[in-house]
Order: sequence, then C-alpha cells, then structure tokens
Amino acid sequence: MEVGIVMTLFERDDVKTGNQPCNVCTKPTRSHVIQPALYEEYVAEVVVNRADEFANNQWEETEEVTKTRKVKEAVTVCHKCWLKRHEEIIEIIDSDYEKWESEPSRYTARIQVTAEICKSYGFEEESKRMASLISMMKESVKQ
Ligand SMILES: [Zn+2]
Repeated sequence: MEVGIVMTLFERDDVKTGNQPCNVCTKPTRSHVIQPALYEEYVAEVVVNRADEFANNQWEETEEVTKTRKVKEAVTVCHKCWLKRHEEIIEIIDSDYEKWESEPSRYTARIQVTAEICKSYGFEEESKRMASLISMMKESVKQ
C-alpha cells in the first residue's frame, strides 16, 4: 500500500452510531440510522523510535501504520420524524401504487426514489411492495 492512495469508503458494524442532529428537525438522535457513517483507511507514518534529543546524530525510525478515519457522519432521524415519514410514504404508495403498477416503465424514477426511501428508513412492508414494483418495471423493460 502506498501513501496517499484513495481507498473505497466502507461502513463499520463495530462502531455504534452516536447522536446526530435529526435530518428533519435537527433534534439530536440516533433512533433511526438512515445512512451509516462512512470510513476510509489511510496510511500514516508513525515514529516508533528516535535518537535521544541530546545525541549528536539525530535519527528517527518510522513505521507505516494503516489507520481508519471517519469521512462522513451518519444521517439519523428521530422516531417522531420517522413515524411522520412512514405515514407520508404509506399515503404516497396507497394513492399511486395502482398507477405505477399499470405502467411501471413510465414512473421509473418515482418508483426508484420511493423504494430508496423505504429501504433507507427501514419500512419493511413498503419495501416489499416497492420491490415487487421494481421487478415488474424490469420485466416491462425486457419486453
Ligand atoms: Zn426529528
């Protein structure tokens, strides 16, 4: 590994998400994690040994160490805002589902955005409904 190489960002299961301002009302919360924090690894030079500061010949022994740092904070919403979002999504799906179902290829973007919200918010029932719409959508593209 070389110093300065950009690594891919990753999530960490071993680090708990702390309180973040709710993405909607800004109240500190960690009730629902919409997007987990992202981390990257980087290589740092660490001094492992050096000459005595009074020595005539100064020297330093360094080692490359891989460290992890947080690149992007987690996005969270409080339970109150989560419930409100859930109601909104149920309303949207209930009113538009038949329309989407009858012509999925016409509403691709809308279906994908809604599915994405259901997934990140962890709305399980709604995610299933959206997943079946998406498979219909893919079917209709093939034809
Ligand atoms: Zn909130």
